[in-house]
Amino acid sequence: MKKSTIYLFPTIEDRSAAETALEVFLTVQNAAARNIMLSTLKSILTKYRLTKLNLEKCTIEPSTSGYVIIKPKKYITGRTCPSCGENLYALNSGVRILSICEGNTSDIVTYGCRCGEIFGKVETI
Ligand SMILES: [Zn+2]
Repeated sequence: MKKSTIYLFPTIEDRSAAETALEVFLTVQNAAARNIMLSTLKSILTKYRLTKLNLEKCTIEPSTSGYVIIKPKKYITGRTCPSCGENLYALNSGVRILSICEGNTSDIVTYGCRCGEIFGKVETI
């Protein structure tokens, strides 16, 4: 009789795959890397049936609209990356939107910077 494996907690390998997928997207910032990142994160959530995956700079939660929600651990109120000072809204900015949580009067936007920093900001609509 075949026993099914029950995973209780992401292995170090899966955890580092998630961190790496994020890092790669922030470094190369193209659509292909974004898709790989999102599907890697989603597959880890599915594998362990997690409602939340705690990573170094953010948490990952399943999204009803398909992929995942990336939630920041730190928030900013300014216009620049707290780590390297990159302007969020500049043309050719090295800061990318990772995830958006829509609210009634404001959205919580999760940004990821080329330098590897991940942070959130409340953006009024
Ligand atoms: Zn930065």
